[in-house]
Amino acid sequence: MENNYTVLARKYRSQNFETLIGQDVLVKTLTTAINTGRIAHAYIFTGIRGTGKTSTARILAKALNCLSSDKATSSPCGVCENCRAIAAGQHIDVMEIDAASHTGVDNMREILDAALYRPTNARYKVYIIDEVHMLSTSAFNALLKTLEEPPAHVIFILATTEIRKVPVTILSRCQRFDLARVPVETLKKHFAWVAEQEKITLSDEANELLARAADGSVRDGLSLLDQAIAQTGGRVDEGAVLDMLKRTDRGTVVNFMKTVLSGDTSAALNKLDEIYANGADLTMLLNDMMEWTHWATRMYPSLRLQDASSSPYTADQRETIKKINETISLNTLSRMWQVMVAAVPELQASSNQKQCFDMLIVRLMHIADMPSIPELLKQNSVESEKKAETTKPVVKEQSKYIDIKSATELVNALQNARELLLYSYVSSNLEIIEFGDNKIKYFDRQNDKNFSQKLTLWLHDNTGKNWTLEITTEDPHKETISEHKKSEITADPMVADAMNLFEGAEIVGVSK
Ligand SMILES: [Zn+2]
Repeated sequence: MENNYTVLARKYRSQNFETLIGQDVLVKTLTTAINTGRIAHAYIFTGIRGTGKTSTARILAKALNCLSSDKATSSPCGVCENCRAIAAGQHIDVMEIDAASHTGVDNMREILDAALYRPTNARYKVYIIDEVHMLSTSAFNALLKTLEEPPAHVIFILATTEIRKVPVTILSRCQRFDLARVPVETLKKHFAWVAEQEKITLSDEANELLARAADGSVRDGLSLLDQAIAQTGGRVDEGAVLDMLKRTDRGTVVNFMKTVLSGDTSAALNKLDEIYANGADLTMLLNDMMEWTHWATRMYPSLRLQDASSSPYTADQRETIKKINETISLNTLSRMWQVMVAAVPELQASSNQKQCFDMLIVRLMHIADMPSIPELLKQNSVESEKKAETTKPVVKEQSKYIDIKSATELVNALQNARELLLYSYVSSNLEIIEFGDNKIKYFDRQNDKNFSQKLTLWLHDNTGKNWTLEITTEDPHKETISEHKKSEITADPMVADAMNLFEGAEIVGVSK
């Protein structure tokens, strides 16, 4: 890059109505008005940042003052003295005022007093007031006075991102235009064109990511592209953009959601660790998970919306989502959404985002039926039938307690009781050395003192007996329960065959 590098957003700023991006309605209305000589004394442009409010204001100022015509024209030439000075922000009769730094009434009075004098070089004196909602009440009042009786040669163009903060008295004096968020497809087309002009390669996947991250703003998208070019030296591909956005690719997100919904807490938390270790931004990840939930809902078969192809997922990913949808209810999706929405401010406020996210995953898994309620009911009734056949009626007091004789029974009981934290802790951190009569001897990989207390308490409450937990400090290097489950599965010849068949396959969850 040379020293005189101009940022893309400035270099490719629209210079006329024809090249204004994604604002067709505004362009049509405004050009028709100019061509038929219906010129208002005040305009207000509103819309999110980077949609072209200031660009439109400058184009309008050129349209009013272009020397190529003897009156206002909807196609300013762009080369005359006036057009060039306005484009550079240097025209003596076209004032650009940033309301954020001119909020006071004195400032505004000074500006408005000058409005009484005729323009020096132009047809109209144009005042472009950016972020107009920042003006103080008295400054607004001063502005209102001028708007009520505007000198014939003065045009006001107000711009704001927050139209609600502009007094109604001002709004009622202005012609209002709402600049729309620019659609993803339009942004993509524009970015592809810019890439061509800049002679850089921009892959379609990378472009899609940029366009979506821009969230309707041309300027934001181009700044991202600027950054990506600087980081890659001009070969912008998906990986580079993902890396820059600290974003996890959609395939990983789809697979992650699959694990979360499979009900295997330790697998899901492990997968999250992996994604986090790869540098993912957790706020972005939550965003992506919400996007997934939104689309899984739209794609839910009973809704018959059939607009899946406009989703951001590939055909393969859509197929995976379809399969997941067969195992969950619409209700589950909607409750997941609620939990995630609630997690957004929580995550922002948290001083330890990873901790917050771990808990979010556990909460989500709580929602995802694991196993589903009907299944649980079936299991219980089969078990109680068995009991009724083989054992005599038991004393009522005892019946609420359960019997736990092995580590496997312990994790199953924890899972059935939905004690997800204890469940995942036991299965992924404990190396069990001995499991005897109300006594467990183990090594704890995380060495969490609170945990043994919680487990003792839970065991007491659920078995009706006092348990002794003996924690050794020396690592016996044994498998944890979840590791054991995994290696048992891989040892199965059928699974081994399947793993060989799919290169790079890994076991992410085990369901009964
Ligand atoms: Zn001109």
